[in-house]
Amino acid sequence: LRDTFERELRDRTPITGAARRDAARYLVAPTHFDRFVLPAAYPIVVAKASGSRLTDLDGNEYVDLSGGFGPHLLGYGHPVPAAAIRRAVDSGGVNALGSPAELTLARTLTAAFPATLAVLANSGTEAVQMAVRMARAHTGRQRVAKFEGHYHGFSDQGMVSSWFRYRGEANAPSPVANSAGAQHSVVDQTLVLQYGLDESLHRITDAAGDLACVIVEPMPSVTGGFDAGFLRRLAATCRAHGVLLVFDEVVTGFRVTYGGVQHLAGVTPDLTCLGKIIGGGLPCGAVVGRPDVVGVARSSGDPFLDVHSRAFVGGTMSGNSITAAAGAAVLGHLRDHPGIYTGLERKTAWLVGELRSHVAALGLSCEISGQRSLLGITFDYARPKLIRDRLAGSHTKANIALACYMRKHGVYLPELHTLMIGDAHTDADLELVGRAFAQSLAEMTQ
Ligand code: PLP
Repeated sequence: LRDTFERELRDRTPITGAARRDAARYLVAPTHFDRFVLPAAYPIVVAKASGSRLTDLDGNEYVDLSGGFGPHLLGYGHPVPAAAIRRAVDSGGVNALGSPAELTLARTLTAAFPATLAVLANSGTEAVQMAVRMARAHTGRQRVAKFEGHYHGFSDQGMVSSWFRYRGEANAPSPVANSAGAQHSVVDQTLVLQYGLDESLHRITDAAGDLACVIVEPMPSVTGGFDAGFLRRLAATCRAHGVLLVFDEVVTGFRVTYGGVQHLAGVTPDLTCLGKIIGGGLPCGAVVGRPDVVGVARSSGDPFLDVHSRAFVGGTMSGNSITAAAGAAVLGHLRDHPGIYTGLERKTAWLVGELRSHVAALGLSCEISGQRSLLGITFDYARPKLIRDRLAGSHTKANIALACYMRKHGVYLPELHTLMIGDAHTDADLELVGRAFAQSLAEMTQ
């Protein structure tokens, strides 16, 4: 790929390329300079972002299909969070006490979900860590169950069997660390399940005595295969055995619909982890849920008692006034403009149809999937259901190549991440994406 795009890099992106090389001297992944593998072959370093467009340091413009990996549902530089951020800065910025914005965000979150208490954090990773700790404190049990291929942030627990490395039987996977340096005891204690398989429910029943919670991406963003019936059976199994059900809606919360996947599936989990959109473009996370479970994080007022009975969660910047103001403003805007969600569905459906027509015209084995405003492109030869079988195919390299060619034709799509459609995408943007896709496929298959 590096050879293929050498001329592009030299002629179109000299300043960007130099910045990327410079950055490599000081930064390591996962910074924005070094996302996954592609930047080395075709870097984008952003000088400006506006609406659905990114402009690199050389002035090249790209239609963005990443949504900043999720937060920017309204588009970059949207006036609603921008004004809220400006007001919060003018009020003195961040302090370690409290602000009305924090209350507004908590009130908005608990009104959007069947939940009465919220705890604020700084990322999806933190929200998951908090939820797991609350679940352990509430149940007095230690183990956590999660699903193969589901990513819950970069903590030791969140990354178990999350991507690229799987172990054991497909129906009954064994846990495997997806990062060097992960604590073995955390990994080994994790029960790894397979989404959509009723075998997983039996395994929960068998392990229930030790199990604090089951965490799941209810609409799996990478593996796909949303199954509302399975979620209902999962909830019933958890309830029957006193195992807490945690929905990781860090991606899907306020994206697939205002009330998240749980609203679509008609399943109420005990805890919901949120992030991305709820920070209005700034770092944010939250756990919302049952008052008796989230309540374990409440102080008794006596720090000596708290060390025994309270699940401590906190953070210098958690619930800070700038993030909270931006998040509350965006969520208020989404609540008051439900048409945004129907628009997102229409745009996604159009783009899925358009991309599929180009795949069909070339007779390629490439699957285009659309779930609400989430879009997936996978070069699968046999379309297996399980992520572990898909990774055995060679689609990953094809995805990486596609991302390079798309950049050449003016579209930024993250090579190995779910694509996101936003409110700022115009019909003209999506038509451009369709043309870039047709050209890219033609060049890739030459
Ligand atoms: N949960 C899911 C489903 C995610 O996709 C992510 C990040 O992509 C996270 C948790 C972690 O969120 P963050 O990157 O904000 O830590």
